[in-house]
Amino acid sequence: MSDERRTTHAVRVGHVKIGGGAPVVVQSMTSTDTADVAATTAQVLALANAGSELVRVTVNLPEAAAAVPEIRSRLDDAGCAVPLIGDFHYNGHILLRDFPACARALAKYRINPGNVGHGAKRDEQFAAICRIAADNGKPVRIGVNAGSLDAELVAAKMAENAKRGLGRSSDEVIDECMVISALSSTELALASGLSTGQVVISCKLSQPRELIAVYRDLAARTEQPLHLGLTEAGMGIKGLVWSASAIGVLLAEGIGDTIRVSLTPRPGGDRRDEVIAACELLQALGLRSFAPSVTSCPGCGRTTSTTFQALAERIEGYVRERMPEWKLRHQGVETMRLAVMGCVVNGPGESRAANIGISLPGTGEAPSCPVFVDGERFTTLKGGYEELAAAFTALVEDYVATRYPAAAAGTPPRG
Ligand code: SF4
Repeated sequence: MSDERRTTHAVRVGHVKIGGGAPVVVQSMTSTDTADVAATTAQVLALANAGSELVRVTVNLPEAAAAVPEIRSRLDDAGCAVPLIGDFHYNGHILLRDFPACARALAKYRINPGNVGHGAKRDEQFAAICRIAADNGKPVRIGVNAGSLDAELVAAKMAENAKRGLGRSSDEVIDECMVISALSSTELALASGLSTGQVVISCKLSQPRELIAVYRDLAARTEQPLHLGLTEAGMGIKGLVWSASAIGVLLAEGIGDTIRVSLTPRPGGDRRDEVIAACELLQALGLRSFAPSVTSCPGCGRTTSTTFQALAERIEGYVRERMPEWKLRHQGVETMRLAVMGCVVNGPGESRAANIGISLPGTGEAPSCPVFVDGERFTTLKGGYEELAAAFTALVEDYVATRYPAAAAGTPPRG
């Protein structure tokens, strides 16, 4: 496991640093129509409040480009400084040229080299976006995507593979094309006036094993910061597991400077899930701390009670709800560990290892719940679920107030 990122160049996106040894940055993307200023501003705020340090918005039409400065302004008025990234395909060179206020309001432009044009126009239009970025002092992300890879490059490499009898599978050829596309586009960006401190690269695929192979190759061949993400990861558990397996392996090898977990939300689902997933992934690997963690057991035949499950869920929700205030006032609270356990087998052990932990009674155990604070038995709680939940959350609040004293007024929060 490596805490050291491999890239040496640092890219500043507004006040956020990517690469150059900076902590891995969490980003997300809105799903609203960007032209709908109120809805997009609300979603950016929700994503930022959930922990997204950068938020990308679609800029696909003149109406969307025209809305970006107003969204920026409303975010500023709301006290939200999260940098906005514009996601451009096909017409980015036109929109950025025609809407200079949009070009200024965005902190970074995402360009997909497979979607900027064909033939000679491809390089010309890609360079036009880079020149606008250079003129505005903005960085770009060269975001190669397997689903929209430069078709001319793929055709040429497939033909070369066949002609020279290289024996590569089509997946291997495509993986190679992705890296070539990212690196040649980086060269073009640098030749168009951007510096090495203004280019982030990504090569997104939807298969974890391929993603890992491509990023290992990419990391060995560039010093530009890398944005990681499994594209089109899917829904729910599948999207979470596939994303974590791919991104986790790479992060553990020191590859990746910023991540996005691209989940397909359920209809009416919560867009913030992708932010929570990214934060949890970084916290699981010990790379960042965002919020106190709650250790809870899966339950088994030794407990017939679902009280510990309900309590674990309630405490997790409570921590998330309180975190926006806690993180402003109680420095270090994000490293706190809580435990809610189902019986005496592992309960006291995990509770002792946490800052504050509770072990609920299993089948046949005495109806009492020992609470441990910093490894010592502190008290025993009794009663029904509501009583237990209220008493345990009160103990958690007490612990936060005592162990992470409130910062003096005017002291800026860390991070
Ligand atoms: S702590 Fe007890 S209830 Fe929970 S999984 Fe272990 S044995 Fe089962």
